Amino acid sequence: MTSASDVPVIGHWIDGAARASASGRTAPVHNPATGAVTGHVALADDSEIADAIASAQRGFQVWSGYSIARRQAVMFAFRELLNARKGELAAIITAEHGKVRSDAMGEILRGQEVVELATGFPHLIKGAYSENVSTGIDVYSLKQPLGVVGIISPFNFPAMVPMWFFPVAIAAGNAVVLKPSEKDPSAALWLAALWAEAGLPDGVFTVLQGDKQAVDGLLESPDVASISFVGSTPIAQYIYETASRHGKRVQALGGAKNHMLVLPDADLDLVADQAVNAGFGAAGERCMAVSVVLAVEPVADELIARISQRIAGLRIGDGAGGADGEPDMGPLITAEHRAKVSGYVDIAEADGARVVVDGRGLTVDGNEDGFWFGPTLIDEIPTSSRAYQEEIFGPVLSVVRVQTFQEGVDLINSGRFGNGTAIFTNDGGAARRFQHEVQVGMIGINVPIPVPVAYHSFGGWKASLFGDAKAYGVHGFDFFTREKAITSRWLDPALHGGIDLGFPQNS
Ligand code: NAD
Repeated sequence: MTSASDVPVIGHWIDGAARASASGRTAPVHNPATGAVTGHVALADDSEIADAIASAQRGFQVWSGYSIARRQAVMFAFRELLNARKGELAAIITAEHGKVRSDAMGEILRGQEVVELATGFPHLIKGAYSENVSTGIDVYSLKQPLGVVGIISPFNFPAMVPMWFFPVAIAAGNAVVLKPSEKDPSAALWLAALWAEAGLPDGVFTVLQGDKQAVDGLLESPDVASISFVGSTPIAQYIYETASRHGKRVQALGGAKNHMLVLPDADLDLVADQAVNAGFGAAGERCMAVSVVLAVEPVADELIARISQRIAGLRIGDGAGGADGEPDMGPLITAEHRAKVSGYVDIAEADGARVVVDGRGLTVDGNEDGFWFGPTLIDEIPTSSRAYQEEIFGPVLSVVRVQTFQEGVDLINSGRFGNGTAIFTNDGGAARRFQHEVQVGMIGINVPIPVPVAYHSFGGWKASLFGDAKAYGVHGFDFFTREKAITSRWLDPALHGGIDLGFPQNS
């Protein structure tokens, strides 16, 4: 393991330029495939936080004065640059997150969808006009930007999650302060430089690196109008409560425990393929990963056999690829996170579950210090076990055997999370009942990872989303704009109101 002092310090992006760290506080950034320290990320102090917000306020004054046509030209330029150069960003993501290169590219493409949606913003921020609502009176509404908006993102999608929010926020005329995860902070800086190249005025896109101090600085500043957060449930709840207390608009997306319900009539080869893809892709570090397969008997034994067979063929290695090409799955984000994932498998075993495929202790030749954890399959996990109830966020797929469709739905609805779920069946009536009864925000029918396209909105229910607004789509534009309703009367010389102290009535 390297603990190099000669690696770069990863700083901020303030006032349209890279800004070196002045706080003297840093945290190490690793390449998870090698375990090497590849950088030290700056952790902002109070003066850097204040500088970032003040610069964003100045940026907002400039940007919100741009015409729609000028704003749209910048959005299109950003989209073109991103599309042309996304390979560079994918390499940065793999180097700090560990996910395989094609998966990094997939996350960028899903973020790019939101950029493309946002290029059409004029249509989405149009107001409405009602003529002659009362004699001689018209009413119309305007959608105006909020001001400086804060985005706080998790480690698992260092490009896509910020892109759920900032294209919409910027298109709508706001200035963004992004606080990325301190575990993979470089993607945000690459995106900031791209915005500058696209012609975005200084201060409209700021990257503030940091930890809790930077987050609290954004939550408490009277000059930050809203907070968009994605991360684990305890922090999402803290963000929601603290930002609300400071009078901000807030959307805080939290953790997940996603179930896949498999009915006996399902195509078991399709199910086994999709369970493996959705359970082990990105090493299970996705909030839409499937972590529980609910098998309606008698299919469990057959399904476990087919999933196990597929796991045996998975190649684990450095996501950047090598002589043998790209592997299927990379490492976990940190050694601490690997210990946590491993601990959950220990808990499941202690609670009586059967570990069918055990990923604990895996190493990869040539990269022995990487944060490896192999695909793990667990059967007969008691639903009282913490390993069933809590989010593991690793490549661990648990099978729970149920006897009926209803038992499966009841189990899903009894959980505290409500992010995503899927049903696999050929019975349209059962699928229709499932979509109606299940208390989850995003549902797949024979689709394992139902992340909505950009023009729908992303968000879960229950402990997976605090606040009312989901990410992107129409929800996104509603969140990042404020409406004004204007009632106007331009007097017809023939009409005079006269004195009337009563509440205005329409006539
Ligand atoms: P995390 O909650 O540890 O961190 C998220 C952000 O919060 C980071 O920027 C971090 O610096 C900051 N933070 C951490 N602790 C804090 C504290 N005490 N006070 C203030 N800020 C703090 O999450 P993570 O480990 O980076 O990401 C994984 C989690 O994110 C998982 O729970 C996953 O399900 C969730 N997630 C949810 C979605 C969704 O759409 N619902 C999407 C992606 C990830």
